[in-house]
Parts: sequence; structure tokens; C-alpha cells
Amino acid sequence: MTGKLAQYQRIVVKIGSALLVDLETGVRRAWLESLANDLAAICQRGGELIIVSSGSIALGRRQMSTHDMTLSQRPLKLEESQAAAAIGQIALGRVWSEVLGAHGIEVGQVLLTLGDTEERRRYLNARDTIGQLLQWSSVPIINENDTVATNEIRYGDNDRLAARVASMMDADLLVLLSDIDGLYTAPPGSDPNAELLEVVDAITPAIEAMAGESASLISSGGMRTKIAAAKIATQAGTEMVIASGKVAHPLAQLDQGARSTWFAASSNPINNRRRWIAGTLETSGSITIDDGAIKALRSGKSLLPAGVTDLHGAFFRGDTVLILDSSGETIGRGLVEYDFEDAKKALGRSSDELTQLLGENYRSVLIHRDDMVIE
Ligand code: GLU
Repeated sequence: MTGKLAQYQRIVVKIGSALLVDLETGVRRAWLESLANDLAAICQRGGELIIVSSGSIALGRRQMSTHDMTLSQRPLKLEESQAAAAIGQIALGRVWSEVLGAHGIEVGQVLLTLGDTEERRRYLNARDTIGQLLQWSSVPIINENDTVATNEIRYGDNDRLAARVASMMDADLLVLLSDIDGLYTAPPGSDPNAELLEVVDAITPAIEAMAGESASLISSGGMRTKIAAAKIATQAGTEMVIASGKVAHPLAQLDQGARSTWFAASSNPINNRRRWIAGTLETSGSITIDDGAIKALRSGKSLLPAGVTDLHGAFFRGDTVLILDSSGETIGRGLVEYDFEDAKKALGRSSDELTQLLGENYRSVLIHRDDMVIE
């Protein structure tokens, strides 16, 4: 891929159910293989990929329709969707593992619920796991955990889930492959004057008004959830593009400039994120660090347990803590990776000592540089 996609290092690709599954014939295998080819090309040039794949409910529903014909013709009740997802997710994971496995790419299945991206503690866990998969050059295949997510605690659509994942992982680009090739000024099916917008610089009320409702029996999104996704992604500094997945090799086509709508990322995303940390009113404790660590933090490094001399408060992983110098002055704040008790054990220790003390599974960083504001 040497065209439009070449400049993006970490890419989240969201694939809608209607593209992946045909309710009559099952997985659209030939199409998926063409997409897998494109994905493999991105991996080969060293790009990092995260897939958000819908389709579990549609696949499970299709499988169960052989027992109950009505399942393919009517909306499902919540428990039916959940049970269908349980059945379909197995098939979905398998097919991804097969089509990417054919290119020598390992995949890892990650099922998330709303709390995993909205609660800081769980957010850090999910981020670390997905980060590890990427470090192994494997491709996370993400879906909502539909079997346990009830109405109150679910995203309900993978557009916003994909945007939350993209912002959580600091992705450079989010691609929404859809059955429509972009955002139109009016519904293209009913308005002959509808025009495709090639670039959206800011999501204004006028842009939001262009997104009508268009959910069908098989897909739960529509343009509204795509615009909501664009808001989440662009504010986090991730560009987003809506492109058609109805063609073979959809990413290669996008790379070569296929019709699509590009949403520009906010120009100051890091500041936004850090402003959020800086704006946390409640801090749960403090970490005092030595001069060497202060120097390291000021040059943009993460805080390691070795540089810590003292700790206060009853904080838990994911809480915001103050970072103090040896005279007790606040020099910054950040989201801590350890619970207080573990941090106490780790205090002042080198990586080797930590491995001995906490086993191979300890987290090497106490506060990640992306989760820190230094004043
Ligand atoms: N998580 C749902 C599924 O896999 C899809 C949600 C969506 O279509 O956006 O079936």
C-alpha cells in the first residue's frame, strides 16, 4: 500500500455485519479473503492493525435459523441476540483466524463491554492487553461481548466501540467499512441532489443533521453512530474515514483514492487528553520521586518504580495521583498503573528485583508517559 493509507502506522478497521455475513449463505468468504489480503499488505509494511468485527449475532442467527425459520425474518429479543452472539462469535473468531492465518498472521479475540473503555481501571487493563497483542505483531479481533451486555450497559453498535478502541489505543486512523461510501449532504437513496462530502474538518451541528437513521435488520449502526464515532475519534487525535466495503479489496481501493469521507483529527489531541488528566479534581494519593526520575519525566519518559522514594494515599490502579519532588512540591500528575499495596512493594526497586519479587507478570511502568502531565 503506497497510496493514501501509507502514512498511517496504527489503524483500526471496523467491519459491519452486513459486509461479513449474508443471511442466506453465511460468511462472505471470498470478500473476506480479499480484505485479508489488504490487511496482510498493511502488516507487511510494518503497520499495526486492530480489527473491530461485527457479525456474531448475524452469524448465530443464521445458524439457528435452520432450527427456527422465523429467526431470520423478525427482530430478535435481547436474550435471543445474546444467545445468537454466543453461537456466532465462535464462528466469527474462527473465520478471522483462518483468513489472516493464511498470511501467517496470528489473531487474538478480545470481547469488550462498555465498562472496559469507560472505567479507568478496566480501561488500563484492556489497553495493556491489546498493546501486548500488537507488540507480538498479532491482530486483535475485537467485538462487543454481546452475550453479557444488556441494554443498559452496551454500546449496541460497533461504530462507537471502534472509536473508543481507536482513542484508547491512540490509533492514527479509524476506517469504518460500511455499505455506504461516505457521508452525504442528504439521504442519497431518496434525494437526487445528495452530494458526498470528501472531507469533514469539524463536526458541526449541520454535519450531525446530515446523518439520518438507517439501521436495517442486519446492521445496528447507520450514519448517526458513525458521526458519533467520528466525534470520539477525532477528539482523541485519530483521523476517521467512512468507505464502502461493498467492493473486493476495499482497503486497497481506499488506498488508491476510492470515494470516501475523511474526518480530520483535532489539531491538539495530546493536549486534550492531558487536559483531561490535568483537570481531574480528585486525586487519590501522591508519589514522591528522586531527582533522576524528575529528569527522566521532563525528557518525556515514563515513571518506573525505581525512581520512587515515597508514597501516600490509598490509590488503586487507574486512579489519578500527584507526582511530588523530594521537597513535597507538586511537579505533575498521572494515572497510576499499580494499586497502592503493590506500589509499596515495588518502591525503589529495579526491574530485575521486581521480576524476582512480583514474578514475570509485573508491569514495568508505574505511570505511563501518555498518562502523565508534568507542570
Ligand atoms: N456486536 C454486534 C455483532 O457482532 C454488532 C454491532 C453492530 O452491528 O454494530 O453482531
